[in-house]
Amino acid sequence: MKEIQDPKQEYDMLIVGGGANGAGVALEAASRGLKCAVIDSYDFASGTSSRSTKMAHGGIRYFEQMMKLEGDPFENFALLKETLHERNYFLMAAPYQNKQLKLLIPSTFLNSLFVYFPGCLAYHLMYLKQLMGSNYDVGVDGPSLAFKNKIRSLYPDIKNIHKLSGVLMHETQMMDGRMNLNALLTSSIEGFIPGMKGANLANYVEFRDYIKNAQTGKIEGAVLFDKLKQKEFKVRSKLVVNCAGIHADELRLKDNPSTFQRIIGAKGTHLIFKKGMLPQDQGIIIPKTRDGRLIFILNYLGQTMVGTTDEKSPITHHVQPDQTEIDFIISELKQVFGDDYDYQGNLESAWAGIRPLVKETDEDRKLKAEFLGIETDPTRMSILQKASHNAKRSLIWFGTKIHGTKEGTAAISRNHVIEFAPSGLVSVMGGKWTTFRKIGEEAVDMILRDKALSNGFEPKYKESQTLNFAYIGSYSRAFALFGIKQNQIQLFEQYEDHLVFNYDIPRECAKSLIHSYGTLALKVVQAGEQASTKQRKLNERLHPEFPFLKSEIIYAIKNEMVEKPNDIVCRRVPIGVLSKQAAVQIMPEVVEIMAKEKRWSNSQKKQELEEALANLQFIK
Ligand SMILES: Cc1cc2nc3c(=O)[nH]c(=O)nc-3n(C[C@H](O)[C@H](O)[C@H](O)COP(=O)(O)OP(=O)(O)OC[C@H]3O[C@@H](n4cnc5c(N)ncnc54)[C@H](O)[C@@H]3O)c2cc1C
Repeated sequence: MKEIQDPKQEYDMLIVGGGANGAGVALEAASRGLKCAVIDSYDFASGTSSRSTKMAHGGIRYFEQMMKLEGDPFENFALLKETLHERNYFLMAAPYQNKQLKLLIPSTFLNSLFVYFPGCLAYHLMYLKQLMGSNYDVGVDGPSLAFKNKIRSLYPDIKNIHKLSGVLMHETQMMDGRMNLNALLTSSIEGFIPGMKGANLANYVEFRDYIKNAQTGKIEGAVLFDKLKQKEFKVRSKLVVNCAGIHADELRLKDNPSTFQRIIGAKGTHLIFKKGMLPQDQGIIIPKTRDGRLIFILNYLGQTMVGTTDEKSPITHHVQPDQTEIDFIISELKQVFGDDYDYQGNLESAWAGIRPLVKETDEDRKLKAEFLGIETDPTRMSILQKASHNAKRSLIWFGTKIHGTKEGTAAISRNHVIEFAPSGLVSVMGGKWTTFRKIGEEAVDMILRDKALSNGFEPKYKESQTLNFAYIGSYSRAFALFGIKQNQIQLFEQYEDHLVFNYDIPRECAKSLIHSYGTLALKVVQAGEQASTKQRKLNERLHPEFPFLKSEIIYAIKNEMVEKPNDIVCRRVPIGVLSKQAAVQIMPEVVEIMAKEKRWSNSQKKQELEEALANLQFIK
C-alpha cells in the first residue's frame, strides 16, 4: 500500500481485479519487465475464481460440441487448442499443487466402445498435437476402456456402476484459490526472473473512477478507495486494465456511459459431500444429465465435489445456491450412487459462483483473427451452420442420436474478449480459468503491439516468458527442463519425510502442507513454532477432521495478505469450501489468532467474528 500510495510512483498498468484474469495479466506484464499494481475490492480470488469446478481441462464438452457441429465448430476448435495446451501449464507451474485426475465415464459396453472411447482418443490425440514442439515434460495420460472388473476395483463402493463398462480419461485438477494467489505472489517478486518488475498487490482496495487528461480524454490514473482504512487516494498509471470479472461492465460504462453491456452472468453451483464416496485423485463424469449437460463428481481434498449448473444470474459478488439447483444435482447423482445413499445427511456444503460470459461481436472476432494471423472468410460460417443444421436433423454420430442445441447460458461461448476503448481502457473479459496464462499473454502482446497505448513502456522482453518459470513453492524449473521428473516427486516425498520425522507433523498434515505451499511448507511450520507458547500450540490441526494447521493462519497473515477471517477460512485454508459446519466451528479460534497477530481490540474482534459468520451464510 505504501508503494501504491506513493505519489511519485507511476505504473505502466493498473490491473483492476485480482481473480484469474488479473493474475494472468499481472504475471505476464511483470515478467516482461512492466511495472504493475493489482487491486481487488475484496480478497484476491474471492469472486468467480475460487468457486470453479477446479479443473484445468481441455473441455470434453467443447470437443463433443465440435464433433457434432453444434455452435461454431471453428470457435470450439480454437478454444480446445488453447485449453488442451494450457492444462499442462498447471502441472508445470505448480507441480506440488495441480495433478492428474482419473475420470470414469460410465456407460453401456456399446456406447463405451463406439462413442466415448473413440471420442476420448481423438480428444487425446488433439492434445498430443498441441504438445508437439512445446518443452513441457509433464502431461496427462491417454484414455483406456474399462470393463466391469476394472470398474469394481477402482470404485469398490459404488455398486450402481459395477455392471457397466466405461472409459477412463484424464484431466488436471487444481486448487483454484491458492493457484490464483500463487500466481499473484509470484508476479510480485522483483527479479524472480532477470528483469522482472515485482507487481504491487493490494486487496480490499476498490476502483472508484478514472483520472483522465482534460484535453485528450486519455486515462492517466485512477481514484481508488482503501476499504480497510476507509480512505480515498489516487494512483498514476499509463493504462487501466479491467479484469473485474462479472463487474467488468461497471468499469466500461464508467469510462463510456453509452457503450453496450457485454457481461452475462451464468451461475454454477457445487455440492460437497462427506469423505469416502470416491477414492483419492479419481472422479466420474455423468456424460448426459436430463437436460443434456455434463456433471463432474470429483474427489477434492478428500471430500466429494459435484457440479455444476448453468443458469442466467443477476450480477453480485455474494451469490448463493438455490434449493432447485441442489435438488437437480442430487437427482442426477442418483444415476451413479443409487436411491439409498443419504444425500442430505452427507451434504457438507453447497456454494455457487457466477461465470462472466461475454457477448462477442463480429468486430471482436475480426480483431482476434487479425491478431492471430488467421484469415476470416465470411462465407465459411454460413456453410458450416447449414451443415450443422442438416447434421443435427439427420445424422447419427457413432450410434448416438444427436441432441438439439443446448438452451440458455450453457449455449453461450466461453471465449474471452480483449477490448480497447478510445480512452485507453483495456478490458479483459471472460474465458476459462484454464487459459488464464494465455489470456494474459494475449492481452500484453496486444497492448505492446499498439504503439499509442504502450507509449513510454520499456519491456525487457518482446516475447512471453511465462512458460519458462514455475511458481513460488516449486523446485527449480531446471528439473523439468532436463527431464528428471521422477526427482521432483522424490524430492517432495523426501520433504514430506523431513516434516514428519524432524518436526513431528502427522503424515496427512505434511502432505496437505506440501500440496498447498510446496517448498514453502517448512516456513509455515517454522512460523507456527515461533508463534507457539506453552499454552498455545500452533502446529496442530485447526479442525480434527481436516489436515490444515493453525500455523497456516500465522503464515498467511505474515506472507499472504490476509485481512479478514473469511480470507483464511474460504481460501488460504479452504475448510469453508469443504464443510460449512466445520467452518463455523473454527471461526472463533481463527478470529482469536488473527486478533492477537493483528492487535485487534475486543470490539473489533467481536465485529470481525459477526461479519465472518454472516458471510458464511452464502454457503449452504
Ligand atoms: C461454477 C463455475 C465453474 C467453473 N469451472 C471451471 C473449471 O473447472 N475450469 C475452468 O477453466 N474454468 C471454470 N470456470 C470459469 C472460471 O472460473 C472463470 O472464467 C474465471 O474464474 C474468471 O476469472 P475473472 O478474473 O474474470 O473473474 P473473478 O475471479 O471474479 O475476478 C474479478 C475480480 O475483480 C474484482 N473487482 C470487481 N470490481 C472491482 C472494483 N470496482 N474494484 C476492484 N476490484 C474489483 C472482484 O472482487 C473479483 O475478485 C468456472 C466458473 C464457474 C462459475
